[in-house]
Amino acid sequence: MVAMLASVVACVRHAHDGRLLLLAGIVCAIGTYASFAIGHHAARAASRHRKRWGAVAVAASGCTAWATHFIVLLAFKPGMPAAFEPVLTALSLLCAIVGIGAGVFASLGSRRVARQFAAGLMLGVGVAALHYVGQAAYLVRGTVKWSHGLVFSSIVMSLPLSGLAMVAAASRDRRYRRLAAPLLMASIALLHFCGMAAMTLHFDPRRRFPDFAVSPHAITPVVAGVSLSLIALAIVGWRLDLSAKARLRDDRKRLRELADVALEGLLICEGDAVVTANNSMERLSGRDPGALAGEQLSVLLPGLDVSGLPEREEREAELIGAGGQAVPVRVLRCDLALGHKLQTVIAVRDQRERLRTEARIRNLAFNDPLTGLPNRTRFFDLLAVHAASRADQDRAFAVLMLDLDRFKPVNDTHGHAAGDAILRMVADRLRAVVQEGDVVARLGGDEFAILQLSATTAGEVEMVAKRIVDTIGLRPFLLNGQAIHLGASVGFAWAPEDGSVPAELLRDADLALYAAKADGKGTFRRYSPTLSERNHERRMLEAGLRHALSEGHLELRYQPVVDAHTQRVTCAEALVRWRDPAGGLIAPTEFIGLAEETGLILPLGEWVLRTACAEAATWPGDISVAVNLSPAQFRDRALADVIHAALAAAALPPERLELEITEGVLLMNEATTLHTLSELRDSGIRIAMDDFGTGYSSLGYLRKFPFDKIKIDQSFVQQVPDDAESVAILRAVVAMSVSLGMSVTVEGVETEQQFGFLKAEGCDLIQGYHVSRPLDSDAFAAFVAQRQRRDRTLVPARG
Ligand code: C2E
Ligand code: CA
Ligand code: CA
Repeated sequence: MVAMLASVVACVRHAHDGRLLLLAGIVCAIGTYASFAIGHHAARAASRHRKRWGAVAVAASGCTAWATHFIVLLAFKPGMPAAFEPVLTALSLLCAIVGIGAGVFASLGSRRVARQFAAGLMLGVGVAALHYVGQAAYLVRGTVKWSHGLVFSSIVMSLPLSGLAMVAAASRDRRYRRLAAPLLMASIALLHFCGMAAMTLHFDPRRRFPDFAVSPHAITPVVAGVSLSLIALAIVGWRLDLSAKARLRDDRKRLRELADVALEGLLICEGDAVVTANNSMERLSGRDPGALAGEQLSVLLPGLDVSGLPEREEREAELIGAGGQAVPVRVLRCDLALGHKLQTVIAVRDQRERLRTEARIRNLAFNDPLTGLPNRTRFFDLLAVHAASRADQDRAFAVLMLDLDRFKPVNDTHGHAAGDAILRMVADRLRAVVQEGDVVARLGGDEFAILQLSATTAGEVEMVAKRIVDTIGLRPFLLNGQAIHLGASVGFAWAPEDGSVPAELLRDADLALYAAKADGKGTFRRYSPTLSERNHERRMLEAGLRHALSEGHLELRYQPVVDAHTQRVTCAEALVRWRDPAGGLIAPTEFIGLAEETGLILPLGEWVLRTACAEAATWPGDISVAVNLSPAQFRDRALADVIHAALAAAALPPERLELEITEGVLLMNEATTLHTLSELRDSGIRIAMDDFGTGYSSLGYLRKFPFDKIKIDQSFVQQVPDDAESVAILRAVVAMSVSLGMSVTVEGVETEQQFGFLKAEGCDLIQGYHVSRPLDSDAFAAFVAQRQRRDRTLVPARG
């Protein structure tokens, strides 16, 4: 083997003319270029031209091999005269063209490796035939001895190389394709120089050339002609290649212009490399124009196997932007032939907006848009999750329920925008009170809830509950420079002591909240089992009251109000009673509060008005009837209509109806309430301020509205005449009401002593057990009749 290699090297170095070898190399390179360029053009050409250009390419490559072979033969220095046999010489050219043509033909249609290798072998056989037929055409004046081993080796070694060259040429990968030409040249060189080294020449002057032999000088112009034709073909091929490239550039430019119209990002790629991208793509990736060209798809869209992506099937992916940030996208692949080139177009759709919208929708479904807090659904979900996990870990937690006090009137007076602003402030204050990890939620309206996971003892929950009550109740809310005072009631349940199932905890916290509200609001309560009982009783009471309303179990009592001086009945206050078929009379203090909470006060109030007016219409002409109105009734816009309807139904003049309202009514929504009151007063109805002196700002309200009457609360009367302070207040109130032109009724007068004192102090009207307890309608009629008789007996006596 070594000896073989040495003989080949020696043959190349010593038996060849170096300059001609160089020329052979140049012709071979030019011819190869011409063959490939024309072959390329054939592949690109329209099908009717393809065969012709294919034939030219095959002829060019055959000629290249032939010319190279013969220049190398001319470079060979046999050391004796040599000549060429013309027929075999021509035949060798034919062998080259046929062999190469067969190889190229066999390679078409499939890129399969075995097929390409076989085609390469065919081509190799053609080249080998060229070589050995060409050798046979080479005549010397001597004898030729062949080394069969080298001949065999030259063929066996060169054929696989030309097979590999064909495989490489058909590869999709550019890097492999670049190997094709060197492999083929190596195959040819190996064949040639081994073949030359296989030949040993011995000069024999007896040998003569046949007559038709052609001298090397004669063959040289033929070889030169063929070489020049190859150069010409190379130029043609070069021009064709240039124009094809220009066309491809134009096509791409047009494609890019078209792509720029698209809203989606488009990447036009060749294999894994980006050739160009549209404007949308540049915007989407945040890269400068042109910066995308040459970028690898595996870098731009990592984790996406583009070649394995089925055409026109969308995939989720991430696009790496200029700053390295990942942009969520959807990707679609589509193949496109541009000229003869297969291009891959990757459409990239930005998913950020869609994902944002989805997140917004999810957010809306689970968060309260006003405060940004979790909503009811989300709170219940979180409660369920935490309750389960806490139960597993044996850890305690609390559920707090919160209700704002006096929020509704603020909302009514200042408008919903103001109400919204306050709710947002409340949310902020609550967030500030709780610890990290606790959940504050808005359940709806002015109802909030807290899932307190940070507390370890019920005492800590109490502290937080107190802080909530204080943060809402102690600091006013500033709205357009106006201070608004609200309050908060809080109820809480402590798991697992007060319950462990979410529904149970919610109900318990709710009961505790109700208890906090019932205990005067602005405070907090923890759940206790007695609350459940109270709640049960409350529900029973509510159902009973409903029943009483529909079944007519309500009655009115009338308590006379008499003139302190004349003792005549001027008015009667209607006081409602509930006759329980089983247990006698139930006092209004037991059920008015509940009726107000449940809204039952509206039908109840209307019933009282209608009954009182109807009854009063039967009384002597100057006695009026006083009806108590709850704040809740003033929330009903139809209140004035209800009152007028009651008067009309009873045909009672408005002057004989008095409405008693408490400070609570004016606290609500001052402007609207005052308007309603003024309207009622204008129609002739009298308005009395009830329970005067029990509130905070009674005096202030007296100036805001021209009441016809004030009723001094019974609590004052009980202290007179012994308590000096009560006496002083009473005197002041009487003096003031006289100056404001209002009459004064004193309620709850129980003794003769009180009566005498009040009369002496200038109080006109007296109401209380001393005069009469509240009476049913018959008893009241009898009372009135009795007083009238007394009047009649007194009048003649005076006279
Ligand atoms: P009020 O308006 O202050 O009614 C006076 C209450 O004092 C009545 O209690 C009456 O029976 C009681 N009273 C009268 N004289 C005396 C006395 O000399 N000593 C004492 N200790 N008490 C006296 P009642 O009837 O139990 O009514 C309680 C409250 O229920 C009323 O207080 C009123 O606020 C409310 N109420 C009664 N009826 C109605 C109604 O039809 N509608 C509304 N909204 N509230 C009503
Ligand atoms: Ca009253
Ligand atoms: Ca009263």
